[in-house]
Amino acid sequence: MPFELPDLPYSYGSLEPHFDAKTMEIHHTKHHAGYTAKLNAALDNTDLKGQSIEEILKNLNLDNKPLRNNAGGYYNHNLFWQILRPPTGSENVPSGDLLNEINKKFGSFDSFKNTFSNTAATVFGSGWAWLCSSNKGELCICSSPNQDNPLMPGVGCNCTPILGLDVWEHAYYLNYQNRRPDYISAFFNLINWDTVAKRRESLLED
Ligand code: MN
Repeated sequence: MPFELPDLPYSYGSLEPHFDAKTMEIHHTKHHAGYTAKLNAALDNTDLKGQSIEEILKNLNLDNKPLRNNAGGYYNHNLFWQILRPPTGSENVPSGDLLNEINKKFGSFDSFKNTFSNTAATVFGSGWAWLCSSNKGELCICSSPNQDNPLMPGVGCNCTPILGLDVWEHAYYLNYQNRRPDYISAFFNLINWDTVAKRRESLLED
């Protein structure tokens, strides 16, 4: 079975005013759809067909640029859509074990937010900022260029992404033009912390 473009769990306009509907629609139906189609093309006539996207990324030959760019683009956007949700109007912060671990690692949620935001703001050109977790639940922040991600061998902090922020201009240019820091700030209103916490919990070993 080829990889399929997933539906979004919310409507294109439901992330406004932080992410606008037109950007969301183009991002999903053009960019993510493009990575999906090119991923399937890159897998055609290879013995990698049938593997999960995670298996493909973990065993990736980084010299295979079409597969690297499009397997990354496919996985990264799947994750990005999942960890967003419409704004609630109230303060948007994590809770429970995830918040405890953030406090332990970064000192406070504000300190985490500053470090993550600076990491995202200083990605040169196109790329992603990540919050990752080990299988012991330890957190780390890193970034990667282009459509790379920390599941790929030797990329980023070598843990599993539980939160990702797309800082390609296609993710924000219509609404924010060159103001990437404003887009990063807006992102914090849209994070689905329940999903992020579940992703971390799913990694924990017994
Ligand atoms: Mn994107």
